[in-house]
Amino acid sequence: MESKQKLNISQSLIKKIWEYESGKECGIKVKEIDILKNKPSISTKPMKLGQYFEYLCTGALLRDGSIPEMPTTNAGKPTADALRAKKQSENFKSMVEHYGFDIIDSNKVITVPIDDNYNLKVVLDVLISNQDGKIAMLDIKFTGLLDDKWNDIGWDSSRFYQRDKLKIQPIMYKHVMEKAEDVPNMDFLYAIFSSKNDTDYQIWEAAIDNYDVVMRELKEEIIPNVKKYLDDMSLLEPKPEYKRCMYCPLKDECAYVAKHPEIIKTHIYDVKYESESS
Ligand code: SF4
Repeated sequence: MESKQKLNISQSLIKKIWEYESGKECGIKVKEIDILKNKPSISTKPMKLGQYFEYLCTGALLRDGSIPEMPTTNAGKPTADALRAKKQSENFKSMVEHYGFDIIDSNKVITVPIDDNYNLKVVLDVLISNQDGKIAMLDIKFTGLLDDKWNDIGWDSSRFYQRDKLKIQPIMYKHVMEKAEDVPNMDFLYAIFSSKNDTDYQIWEAAIDNYDVVMRELKEEIIPNVKKYLDDMSLLEPKPEYKRCMYCPLKDECAYVAKHPEIIKTHIYDVKYESESS
C-alpha cells in the first residue's frame, strides 16, 4: 500500500495560519502553496536579496541547489543593495572571527516526527560552537527594519517579547533541537544586518527564561491549532482580494480570483461631526 507522505509544520506555516486567521492571507493559497507545495511561492525582492546575502555569508544555496543570483542593474552591474550585502557579509565573517564561533554546519534541514501524520521542520542557517565549546543556533537576517519599533516584524530588541511573528522562530527551533538532539533550551542567536547601510548590525541572544511554560504553549496550543487545519483543510477558505490575488501564483487557475478591486466607500463629511453641529 502506498504510504501517505507526512506533512511538515514549520514556523513559517504557523505564521501563515495566524495571517489566515487574522484575514491577511487566503486559505486556498496557504493550502496549495504552503502546505501541499503544489506550486512554488514567488520570492519577493527582499527575499531574493536575503538569499543572496546568506549565500555570501555561508555559501547557502537555494532549495533547488542553485546559487542565488546577485541583484543587478539594467547594465548588468551589482545594485546598491547587492554592494551593501557584500559589505555586510564581510562584517558577518569578521563577527564570526571576533567571537570565536566555529561553524559546524549551515543551511541544515531538521525534521522530527510528532505523530503518524506530521513532522516539525526547521532550517538552521548556521550551527556554531562558541569559544567555550557550547553549541548554539545562529540565524542570519538582512533587513531594512533593524531598530524599527513600530512594525510588527521590526527588529527592536526591547520589543522582541511583543513580536509573536518573530519570537515563534526561536521557540520552535529550541523545541525541535530538544527533540532531535536532546538538548533543552539550546542557545539561539540572531545576527541581524541592516540592508540600509554598510555598518549597522546587532547580535542578539533570544533567551527563553520560562522555558517549560513557553514549550507547553507551543505543544498544547500553537501546534494543535495548525494541526486542526491540516486535519481538515476545508477550514482553509478562499479570501480573494484584488492585490493579494494579482500577486498570487494561482491566479490563472483559481476559481475565486478577484480580478478587480472592490469599491471602497470613503466619506467626504464626517457624519459624527455633522450631527454634533446641527
Ligand atoms: S487567486 Fe486569490 S483567491 Fe485564488 S488562491 Fe490566490 S489569493 Fe486566493
